[in-house]
Amino acid sequence: MPALEDEVAVVTGASRGLGRSMVERFSAEGARVTLTARDDDLMDQVAVDLPGESLVVPADVRDADAVERVIERTVERFGRIDTLVNNAGVSLLGLQDSRKRLVDVAESEWDTVLDINLKGTFLFTRATLPHMAERGRGNVINVSSGLGRRAIAGAGPYVSSKWGLEGLTRVTALEGEEDGVNANALDPGGRVDTDIWAHLPDEERAGILPPDVMDDAAVLLAAQGPDGVTGASMTAEGWEERLG
Ligand code: NAP
Repeated sequence: MPALEDEVAVVTGASRGLGRSMVERFSAEGARVTLTARDDDLMDQVAVDLPGESLVVPADVRDADAVERVIERTVERFGRIDTLVNNAGVSLLGLQDSRKRLVDVAESEWDTVLDINLKGTFLFTRATLPHMAERGRGNVINVSSGLGRRAIAGAGPYVSSKWGLEGLTRVTALEGEEDGVNANALDPGGRVDTDIWAHLPDEERAGILPPDVMDDAAVLLAAQGPDGVTGASMTAEGWEERLG
């Protein structure tokens, strides 16, 4: 039997990159999937080729009402939510070429990165937890980064957002424990060949990880029951070793 038969998953940042790949894999594993991001044309193109049922609900993760609508429409359509993947993210202030030291970061740039990467995860988690608690089970998977555990100069907003996400993951795990909800952080374990790195020359992009790098780990996390691992943060490879 496929690992996620009949389960329901909501994936943010589903229009491309790592999110798109997780959507395709979840669907192949039998899950019904809600795709959310801002670009509905791209999401429609992803959804049309999925083997299973899906729903496309565009939303900006910074917009609380839009986030509530994604969750409401998912519950209306599929009856429940088993897994939430908070994957939407931006890396403004380029992690490499265009690093910006804190003294050069505009307030609006700080707000954009923190609002998308951290507040967006809070809004989706807040909207989803009551539905999981009602059923006494669920998995929240927050897509972090190696920069959620260490720091580099010139990426202040991104590093701060991912360290914040790590803290939010642990709080979600503590608060979800008595309701059977696991919350964990997952990161690819290195640079991944997505639009985030579109500016790199081809020869450098060729050496980085493929966009499906987190799919196995995400499936293992989504398949966890109420007594699963919670409050932990690992790379995809780490999760595969732990749960595989
Ligand atoms: P990507 O290809 O640029 O995709 C980012 C996704 O986030 C897109 O689907 C985008 O959709 C969505 N998004 C961005 N802003 C949004 C907003 N305001 N509201 C709703 N959705 C929004 O990037 P990726 O590499 O797949 O990144 C996915 C996650 O992995 C991020 O959290 C990132 O920090 C993390 N990560 C990536 C790498 C890497 O090397 N690529 C490494 C470590 C961690 P729309 O533009 O359609 O809204």
